[in-house]
Amino acid sequence: MPATTMEQLVSLCKRRGFIFQNADIYGGFQGLYDFGPLGVELKNNLKNAWWRAMVYERDDVEGLDSAILTHRKVLHYSGHEDTFSDPMVDCKDCKCRMRADTLKDGKCTECGSTNLTEIRQFNLMFKTNVGPVVNEESYGYLRPETAQGIFINFKNVVDSTSRKVPFGIAQIGKSFRNEITPRNFIFRVREFEQMELEFFVKPGTDEEWHEKWKEARLKWWEEQGVPAEHIVAKPIPKEDLAHYSKATYDICYEFPHGLEELEGIADHTDYDLANHTKNQDEFKINAHVHDKNVDSTSKLALYDEEAKEWFIPFVIEPSAGVERGVLAVLTEAYTEEALENGTTRIVLKLKKHLAPIKVAVIPLKRNNEAIMNMAHKIKTDLLKLGIGRVALEDSGNIGKAYRRHDEVGTPICVTVDFDSIEQEPASVTIRDRDTMKQTRVNLADLPNYIREYFA
Ligand code: ATP
Repeated sequence: MPATTMEQLVSLCKRRGFIFQNADIYGGFQGLYDFGPLGVELKNNLKNAWWRAMVYERDDVEGLDSAILTHRKVLHYSGHEDTFSDPMVDCKDCKCRMRADTLKDGKCTECGSTNLTEIRQFNLMFKTNVGPVVNEESYGYLRPETAQGIFINFKNVVDSTSRKVPFGIAQIGKSFRNEITPRNFIFRVREFEQMELEFFVKPGTDEEWHEKWKEARLKWWEEQGVPAEHIVAKPIPKEDLAHYSKATYDICYEFPHGLEELEGIADHTDYDLANHTKNQDEFKINAHVHDKNVDSTSKLALYDEEAKEWFIPFVIEPSAGVERGVLAVLTEAYTEEALENGTTRIVLKLKKHLAPIKVAVIPLKRNNEAIMNMAHKIKTDLLKLGIGRVALEDSGNIGKAYRRHDEVGTPICVTVDFDSIEQEPASVTIRDRDTMKQTRVNLADLPNYIREYFA
């Protein structure tokens, strides 16, 4: 099978309503995309799969949904105000602006010129005024990561749940980065969602947990249809590590445009909690402290009953982008298949739990009342199973309906035909997306069949 190209994905996503360029009627707003009728389902299904694996299936993780607008002090003491930047350079010839670390042999990526400006640091955070009075202190930020919302709620969660290490706090939500060069479809955008876990552990056990989380996350991606052979867990060399990190794995996937980061798994040490803690001198801190004068009111520490002392936990952070996840599962699922009759079909072989539409109910004739009634009833009954979206597909052309549902990855089509209403016991045809095999199933057995299929 030839590798999926970005053009194939962009075209499918637009044609079938997965992803649209934002503000395309005004020429497009760069670095922003909107998720259409099927895209929103796929994205929700991926997020639900993450939440299920990270929160529901574990006994050591709590969930959180913190505010997007972020207090300036949070992002000051976290170090983001000073260090969350990319090196930027302008080409004096073609006037394009790019990240200095993407230059090829010191040349402009657009025109190849070496006539470039000095490199300067560009902070990626979106700053905004908050409240009706504009003064030096009335600003905040759109968060550049969801993680800080977790750290500043550490004490609230511990106090309200009595958690002890090891335990984690999980969050899914929007993040914003004013990327210098957004590109490669939804891979690098300015508004995106992150699925982040902060897993707090006893100092000294962090290396072991770092490995455990790497394995757990690779397994999860495999369950989403992104196999281990297309992923590399790259350990970041010591000299390239971010200042807060002791060790990081970049989970890189073979995207259509190249091998790039899908998820980062970092050992943050006690950097984050320590930097938001007052009177840090009371603690043995491993991480460097960004600004000693922290004026938070809290100590983000736990009491060790055995050692009879307070300590600041270390943090392991698996952080994945939802958009990059969607792009990876689409890349894997997209298939063009040569059929025996000489034609080609496009089929999206998504894992069934990710499919935007689980079942399409197709009435063979939309102007036949008995057929339509049965189709409506089937849809209502299947919806009650709680499997996700069940669509009534009454476009009237069965061939086109199958093709459309192959392209959007609907695992099962249920067709109601004349035999369904005329013969006893009533039965319907079930068509499988991947094998295209059609089977006749008694109507009475249909809900069980579908329930077991999606179990
Ligand atoms: P990159 O090196 O590609 O800029 P990063 O190392 O800055 O990414 P992190 O800060 O580790 O990214 O963020 C965690 C995850 O959030 C990334 O692995 C990625 O999936 C997602 N992510 C980060 N920036 C973007 C973006 N601009 N667009 C889409 N997803 C993003």
